[in-house]
Amino acid sequence: MEDFFRSVERFVNDKIKPHINEWDEAGAFPIELYRQAGELGLLGLGYPEEYGGFECTLAERLRLSNLICEAGSGGLLAGLFSHNIGLPPLLNHGSEELVGKLAPGILKGELISALAITEPTGGSDVANLKTTADLVMVDGKPHYKVNGEKVFITSGVRADWLTTAVRTASHSEAPGAKGISVLMIPGNAKGVQRTHLKKTGWWMSDTASIYFEDVLVPAENLVGKEGKGFRIIMENFNTERLMLAGGSVCFAKVCLKEALDWAQNRQTFGKRLLDHQVIAHKLADMRMKIRATEAWFDETVAKIDRGEISQELVADICLLKNQATTTLQHCANEAVQILGGMGFMRGSSAERIYREVKVMCIGGGAEEIMKDLAVRQLSW
Ligand SMILES: Cc1cc2nc3c(=O)[nH]c(=O)nc-3n(C[C@H](O)[C@H](O)[C@H](O)COP(=O)(O)OP(=O)(O)OC[C@H]3O[C@@H](n4cnc5c(N)ncnc54)[C@H](O)[C@@H]3O)c2cc1C
Repeated sequence: MEDFFRSVERFVNDKIKPHINEWDEAGAFPIELYRQAGELGLLGLGYPEEYGGFECTLAERLRLSNLICEAGSGGLLAGLFSHNIGLPPLLNHGSEELVGKLAPGILKGELISALAITEPTGGSDVANLKTTADLVMVDGKPHYKVNGEKVFITSGVRADWLTTAVRTASHSEAPGAKGISVLMIPGNAKGVQRTHLKKTGWWMSDTASIYFEDVLVPAENLVGKEGKGFRIIMENFNTERLMLAGGSVCFAKVCLKEALDWAQNRQTFGKRLLDHQVIAHKLADMRMKIRATEAWFDETVAKIDRGEISQELVADICLLKNQATTTLQHCANEAVQILGGMGFMRGSSAERIYREVKVMCIGGGAEEIMKDLAVRQLSW
């Protein structure tokens, strides 16, 4: 593991860090990066060896993903690792044949995977999604005919496979959560139309609007049973939220490091910025919030690695996501303030992370929804 850790460190230092600003300005990182990360084994972390993965504890997986975070770009993390939300539903619930067909290519970085749940009419209220998938016969074989629209989908334009939440039964037959299923839809299927969306941050991550017009998908691409999609999606959210929390802690640390370096070197009124008590206290507050969040995060990860899964833990993951994103919000704000005008200029990590904060608070379940869900899990 230590050798692998060092090879990932080299990969981040040589192939990623020097290019972060250029990729963000260009609005994309090179597509070859998927294959390079796949060859290194980065995309397979935590996945079964039979599909080309590399099994490890959650703690080890997060330690490695922290190395990527040190490059200071949430957009890279979201885009390069979009399979971390697109693949698990397939892996945990798909047929052996479908998993065998898609998982190895995804883990090698040859196929790009995205998760398509959110719709223009709402992302928080997943049970009310509107995209339909009606069972029809084509050349004597069962297919789903998909119609609808998804929005804000990470890696949506580039994706070879869209793990898509659809409504397989009409509202009258199965309203709400009961009518939802998950389908694997090829990104290049006839009737799929994809458009790039412009955003406040995560510039290098491809975010798409996706239209489905009479898209025919073989019925064997169904993941799990019809009508069981809501549970599959909810189960997937736990890992996504934990990853977002871990990323937020790491990006907060990047902000602290950059602000501290600046404060140690910048002189105002005849002394270092750090020697002004107000600035030193800002840095101390950043560290205090990071250390507290990190301790809770490590405790939660250790519980998961010990298999101590409970409703209380699910509630904690929701609240931890909020704690981590609040910490990130504070640290990004203070780092930009300490950097002064330079913090408002493109090129610094603090400036980029400041633009990326809000998506961490909204994506994967917004703050308000996290609190609601935590309260329900705790049965208060
Ligand atoms: C850059 C980016 C990338 C994304 N990537 C993906 C992706 O890969 N796949 C995917 O499926 N989705 C993705 N999303 C979508 C994301 O998960 C949703 O934006 C999020 O779930 C919120 O949904 P919404 O935007 O529709 O907001 P809404 O659901 O309309 O909510 C708007 C606001 O109202 C609040 N709110 C809603 N209901 C309540 C309530 N009952 N009580 C109190 N407050 C409430 C919410 O918390 C939120 O603050 C991405 C979003 C962004 C911005």
